[in-house]
Amino acid sequence: MAELHLMKSSNKPTLPITHCCPACGLLCDDLVLTSTSPLNIKNACTKSISFYNSAWLTNSNTPRIAGKASDFNTAIQAAADILRASNQPLFAGLGTEVQGMRAIVALAKKTHATLDHMHSESTVANTLTIQHSGWQTTTLTEVKNRADVILAIGTDIVSSHPRFFEKLVWNEHSLFDKPRPEIIYLAVPKHLSADNLKAGISPAGKAPTVIAADTAKLPEIISALNALMNNKKITENQVAGITIEALQSILDTLKAAQYAVIIWSASNFQYAHAELTVQSITHLIAKLNENTRVAGLPLNAGDGDTSVNNTSTWLSGYPTRSRFFADQASYDAHHFSSNQQLNKCDALLWVSSFNTQQPTCDAPTIVIGHPNMQFDIVPAVFIPVGIPGVDHTGSMFRMDSSVVMPLKQLRENQLPSLSEVVLQIEALLT
Ligand code: SF4
Repeated sequence: MAELHLMKSSNKPTLPITHCCPACGLLCDDLVLTSTSPLNIKNACTKSISFYNSAWLTNSNTPRIAGKASDFNTAIQAAADILRASNQPLFAGLGTEVQGMRAIVALAKKTHATLDHMHSESTVANTLTIQHSGWQTTTLTEVKNRADVILAIGTDIVSSHPRFFEKLVWNEHSLFDKPRPEIIYLAVPKHLSADNLKAGISPAGKAPTVIAADTAKLPEIISALNALMNNKKITENQVAGITIEALQSILDTLKAAQYAVIIWSASNFQYAHAELTVQSITHLIAKLNENTRVAGLPLNAGDGDTSVNNTSTWLSGYPTRSRFFADQASYDAHHFSSNQQLNKCDALLWVSSFNTQQPTCDAPTIVIGHPNMQFDIVPAVFIPVGIPGVDHTGSMFRMDSSVVMPLKQLRENQLPSLSEVVLQIEALLT
């Protein structure tokens, strides 16, 4: 076997360095790393601080085979051997950026693999809605420049996207002279901190409207909004504990807006057939657009899901939950899910380069991921790789899919990138 060359050449960045944060779908590009010891990053939110602290705790640059330290060449050979012996591998997790996913798709073609992202259980609700009925959505830039009403359904927004209000809602710089948006929260999950709703208080002190309800009741709540929107008579006084007057008031606010934005997080719709709730929201948006302007904004779940699904779609025609055979991709939102395939696959390749999520699978497992990973079940092969936007450059789609942001390398490190490792595995599978 030819010797593999994976170690990167030295490339020490000069501080301070302005960079883009990959820790959530906002991809804020105004972070400034001023010091690494102690770690100091200007404009970092709590989520990004946690992400970078974890990155700087990196404790292993050593691949492992069955828990024993190995070198990169031997680990890559072992990974290739597992995939060569497999008839039906599953590539899951897929926490990566554009370049990593390009390499994964090439390897999937060669090995007839099924692809699924770790957060697709939530994002598939959005995908099914686009496939069934389409939708009218907007971009973060439009939110910043035009939104005068924001209705957040089943989400406080900031627990997943912490700087949303700071960057896009209470910002001082908007292209147009528009009023500060009116904020309405509807059925925010109870487990989220009530403090998070304070992000919806305007700089002038105007409190948001908070309509409390069980998030699991959103199917009937959104159906009631659609019924009212279509002038149907509702004989009950309330729906899921919300008075009809309160629901009508939401509608009246949306109808009076110049540019309302309805935001939801499918991750929080933890019940069967959540896609029907998303579809119901998009029906409401379509109906409202007959007389005014309203747009949707689905929040992404994280770990590069937007980048991975867009890259998969442009390379194969399908988002994840796809399978390759004879160079052709097929798609099945149910059968190609990790839940279904973890019991059927004869090998698992798990990828998680932003965080330390680990897989549980009885089949021989290869893990390529974050160097801090610790395992409850020791995988057959573990290959640590660099963290995108920390250890190497890369590209990521913002959550609205309208902008691709460049990631910078922030530190000198000898870890290879995911795409380098995957390309080397593929090269061994002739
Ligand atoms: S809001 Fe998101 S992208 Fe922005 S700094 Fe926080 S975690 Fe990073």
